[in-house]
Amino acid sequence: MKDDLSIGGTLIRPGEQCSLELPVSRLPSGTPIHMPVHVFRSRQEGPAILLSGGMHGDEVNGIEIIRKFLKSGIASQIRRGSIIAMPIINVYGFINFSRDVPDGKDVNRSFPGNPDGSLASIVAHTMSTCILPEIDFGIDFHTGGASRTNYPQIRYEEEDELAEEVSRAFAAPFTLHSNVIEGSFRETARSLNKSVMVFEGGETLRLDRKTVEEGLDGIKRVLQYYGMISKAPKQRQKQRFFRRSTWLRADVSGLFRHRKESGQAVKEGLTLGYISSPTNEYSVKMNSPVTGHIIGHNNFPLIHKGDALFHIGYDETAP
Ligand SMILES: [Zn+2]
Repeated sequence: MKDDLSIGGTLIRPGEQCSLELPVSRLPSGTPIHMPVHVFRSRQEGPAILLSGGMHGDEVNGIEIIRKFLKSGIASQIRRGSIIAMPIINVYGFINFSRDVPDGKDVNRSFPGNPDGSLASIVAHTMSTCILPEIDFGIDFHTGGASRTNYPQIRYEEEDELAEEVSRAFAAPFTLHSNVIEGSFRETARSLNKSVMVFEGGETLRLDRKTVEEGLDGIKRVLQYYGMISKAPKQRQKQRFFRRSTWLRADVSGLFRHRKESGQAVKEGLTLGYISSPTNEYSVKMNSPVTGHIIGHNNFPLIHKGDALFHIGYDETAP
């Protein structure tokens, strides 16, 4: 841990805490837009941990997890280390109920960013230069897509040993290996030798109680693991680890009804749902291609051939 933690020109010393507003840009109305940052430091040395949400502005579960964590007051009582909590990275997306910034660019494909680039690139640059250099590791809270819900899960890059340690301590119901995407926050973090894990749960623009509880409990378990707090809730269910995952895609277009959903165990060949034409000209069963667990599913009933229906984790490893 660095003794001097400095964010956007503000120095935060051991034992101090503060709330900052990192300037990003302005709306067309002239209203300034800031990224809220809350910093908590113990007097004792320990890891500096980033907890961030809202990289995609409509992924509200992550924002709610950080909000509840801040409300709990736990961060003010840590016995060692530092916490940087950021409920909304992409304020533009949040106020527009949108994943992206207003020009349609995805902040999480715009890293490391550029202060003179497009809006997404400015947001990314702020994270790359003001936040990443100050942390040891981070957990970035996301959700599934529009109408595609994810069972609470944590993802990290396979060979990242620190991320594996943190993910085990977090103890989400599901843990997956996932490759780093070009232009993502995780890619820039890796280039700076920082570990960032992604938590995923629920879907966009819909609060999911289980996801919020699992996210909050996971944060507490990580803080307990690093001796920053004394107590944390036990995991509610067995932690499962998947080496691989695959999507089951629609064989035909039509009305989709799922019979199984996220979190459930499935056997190869089991029928997970049905797709029928509205006039009953045809009806097909969608069967699981593997034996595993459903880690995400599509709630949208109108389906085109090729649409993703179920995300299934498999190749489970022993804990
Ligand atoms: Zn996301």
